[in-house]
Amino acid sequence: MMPLQYCEKYGFDSDKIEARLRWLQLSDADIAVSGQLQHAIIQPRATEIIDKFYEWLMALPEARNFLGDEEHVAHLKNTQLHYLLTLGVDFSLPEYFEARLRVGQAHVWVGLSLDLYQSAYRYMSQLIVDGIDLQNSNARAMLEFVHKIMALDMSLAIETYHLAQVRSLEECLDRSQRQQHSLRVAAQTDLLTGVANHEAIIGQLQEILRQPEPVAVVAVMADIDFFKKVNDTYGHVVGDKVLVEVVRRMQAALRSVDSIGRYGGEEFLLLLSGSSLEIAKQVAERIRERVSDQPIHLVDQAVAVTVSLGVSAARPGDTDEVLIARADRALYVAKSAGRNRVEIAEP
Ligand code: GH3
Ligand code: MG
Ligand code: MG
Repeated sequence: MMPLQYCEKYGFDSDKIEARLRWLQLSDADIAVSGQLQHAIIQPRATEIIDKFYEWLMALPEARNFLGDEEHVAHLKNTQLHYLLTLGVDFSLPEYFEARLRVGQAHVWVGLSLDLYQSAYRYMSQLIVDGIDLQNSNARAMLEFVHKIMALDMSLAIETYHLAQVRSLEECLDRSQRQQHSLRVAAQTDLLTGVANHEAIIGQLQEILRQPEPVAVVAVMADIDFFKKVNDTYGHVVGDKVLVEVVRRMQAALRSVDSIGRYGGEEFLLLLSGSSLEIAKQVAERIRERVSDQPIHLVDQAVAVTVSLGVSAARPGDTDEVLIARADRALYVAKSAGRNRVEIAEP
């Protein structure tokens, strides 16, 4: 049994199939009519119907674009012939629905427009109906069946057509949302170290300070000691690698609730939110130790680094600038007092 890929994709389970047949008043009584239509009308005239259909189609400038060369047209005619010879055959089976849904998908791929599509179904019905002898006692039943089965085929083809386009739009939207997300992340990230950049870490601080009082946030300014000397001694490439490793060490010493951003150059702003000055002091001390503990081993150098830190807790009414300035002054004190140390601003 062929897999019912499209039925599954578009939700054509037995309930939906039953409902569609019911809406179109297609019932068991139509099965016999469908056989008569195939034997008496379609099969004897199938090639003629297809030729006439393509004559009509070729006369439409809008259709010529996707019909392509003769070889392609011959292929399309063949597909269409198969379509015609299966029209209405076992219409109540899921396999019939699957095949008809597939037709819609094929037309999405060729880029056939929906209006031309509907016109084509109408003309195809016309060609079939033209073959019915109206004097025949069965004529009315056959005409009705042609109407119903063409409506079914058209509804299924259009359904996939429509849903395939919706799906592809959804995928587009999804892609663009993911791109937007990575752009947003990139715009907030420092390229060298991978932590938040200046704007992003300041933004985070402003966000915290906007919260209703009392705000429990401690700002820590960390600045690498004598970093100019590292550059001067080993070059800027090594300097960059040292920066990256120092950031890694600082991050490792932070708690998951804390954040770090590159304030500029070799200065970093750390935000310890929800913590007391006492805890902040311990965290800052741990950072200082982690950074200076071991020299940084690069390919053929071992670079010793230390960092100085200025710590300040937010006071009610502090702006980001006021808080940072206070942490900065504490940092300056740490530098003046000999570096590789933590200095706390008066609470
Ligand atoms: P101090 O202990 O007083 O902080 O001394 P310092 O040498 O670290 O201070 P200073 O601010 O004079 O020098 C900072 C140096 O950091 C100068 C600058 O060239 C270097 N720097 C800033 N950003 C980068 C970077 O992205 N890569 C490298 N390699 N160096 C950088
Ligand atoms: Mg420095
Ligand atoms: Mg500096």
